[in-house]
Amino acid sequence: MATERKAVFLFFGGTGDLAYRKLYPSLFNLYRKGNLRSHFAVIGTSRAKMDDDKFRAAIKKSLADSGNRTDSKEASDFVSHFYYQDHDVTDTAHYAVLKELMDKLDKKYKAEGHRIFYLSMAPQFFGTIAQDLKTQGLLSEGKDVFNRLVIEKPFGRDYDSAKLLNDALSKSFDEDQIFRIDHYLGKEMIQNIEALRFGNTLVESLWNNRYIDNIQVTLSEKLGVEERASYYDNSGALRDMVQNHIMQIVSLLAMEQPVAFTDTDIRAEKVKALRSLRVYNVADAATNFVRGQYGSINEQADYRHEDNVPHDSTTETFVAGKLLFDNYRWSGTPFYIRTGKMLADKFTRVDVVFKRPLVDIFAFPQSQNTPLAANVLTIFVEPHAGFSLQLNAKTNDTGFSTEPIKLDYLVDAQKSKDTPEPYERLLHDVLKGDGTNFSSWPEVSYAWKFVDQIRRVWDLQEPQFPNYTPHSMGPAAAEELIQRDHREWVYRLNN
Ligand code: NAD
Repeated sequence: MATERKAVFLFFGGTGDLAYRKLYPSLFNLYRKGNLRSHFAVIGTSRAKMDDDKFRAAIKKSLADSGNRTDSKEASDFVSHFYYQDHDVTDTAHYAVLKELMDKLDKKYKAEGHRIFYLSMAPQFFGTIAQDLKTQGLLSEGKDVFNRLVIEKPFGRDYDSAKLLNDALSKSFDEDQIFRIDHYLGKEMIQNIEALRFGNTLVESLWNNRYIDNIQVTLSEKLGVEERASYYDNSGALRDMVQNHIMQIVSLLAMEQPVAFTDTDIRAEKVKALRSLRVYNVADAATNFVRGQYGSINEQADYRHEDNVPHDSTTETFVAGKLLFDNYRWSGTPFYIRTGKMLADKFTRVDVVFKRPLVDIFAFPQSQNTPLAANVLTIFVEPHAGFSLQLNAKTNDTGFSTEPIKLDYLVDAQKSKDTPEPYERLLHDVLKGDGTNFSSWPEVSYAWKFVDQIRRVWDLQEPQFPNYTPHSMGPAAAEELIQRDHREWVYRLNN
């Protein structure tokens, strides 16, 4: 039985792409499951002028666009909880109007003073909104009420700007009231890393540098920048993907077992892991990280000729790198990461490559056997969810030779269909006050300190762009990065 939660939501950027495409459909799923029922209201706000009816029609369209039927009583009841108020976030005096509406809806729906403020708009407004929410009296007061602030990415563009933003937020909200979204943390198989590691003796007892040779994390995108070019060109793959999503995944893979499965304990271990990540000096940053930008092929324009991209842009659309942890568990076991746009396919996966047996007893002089393959545990995050474990087994034949075989577990299509969307899980976590799957400030700050050092070194040198062909797996330098260590990427084209 779902537990009904009570709250008034205030969505800044309430007419934006993210709100319509992800946030409102996710709220509807929570409503259908009973996590939201009678005691909630949603206020959408942006600069656009419209009345409640028009807003509700837009919500219905957003539900329909995400595959829901909207001719039901359930859908109509759901949208009846939605209200619209136009508002310019830079106009402090106008917050009084939002306050009045929030107070009114709180009473009407008996939401008991619980408030969720969702900032789904350009990050330069985050600080001022947080401040005005507090100074203009929108935070409700009382012993048992909650006020929660949800922040979209990006959280700063380097450590210094992130710190300024965090200092601004902390004037109005405590750390446990701030929920920094990293939607990768809402993905089923990313959450499964903890179950796989801490629920299986077989896995966790081998999860260290004695048995693991290297770990590879790949977030591969098939599309180019599309309509996000003006944002992306200011950011690049390092800031857009590595600082947040990849660092979060890596910290879950690298952390020690938490004392208990609570947000406080998990965050403490992730922070400890990130603290032991080696921040590179100039020479090591230049050797251990490579960047790329896609060229053209057939009808496909190169990155520099995409709409809204300057013709001399040096923004990277690809990053690969090697991460080293200086701690007892991981010393000597590198984590290789890569991400990019316009690559061969769209997928996210983690490959854990185990060390080969110290002695290969099947490789005696007269044997025709090929050397034993490494055991590889693959976590498929998307588009398919599941695990695969590569082992060596005897071939089904006379004589004696071995071959790699795979034990596969793929979540079946029906279950995948029923799997909650990341934003549904994350909104549910916000309602429950569970910060496990959000980035805490210490995590964000260590991730920026690491990434800033790479950026600093890259900014000293003009890159030779473009340097990779669309639909490949990135520039030759990404191959050289791993081959230099006598290793190779587990996922390769045509394997
Ligand atoms: P968007 O441009 O589609 O929407 C921005 C919203 O902010 C609109 O509702 C607009 O009216 C409102 N707005 C702008 N200036 C305003 C002002 N001065 N006062 C009041 N309202 C104002 O943006 P989006 O794509 O929905 O993204 C929102 C946030 O989510 C951004 O931080 C973005 O980085 C993040 N994000 C978006 C996506 C996505 O898929 N769209 C994915 C991840 C993160």
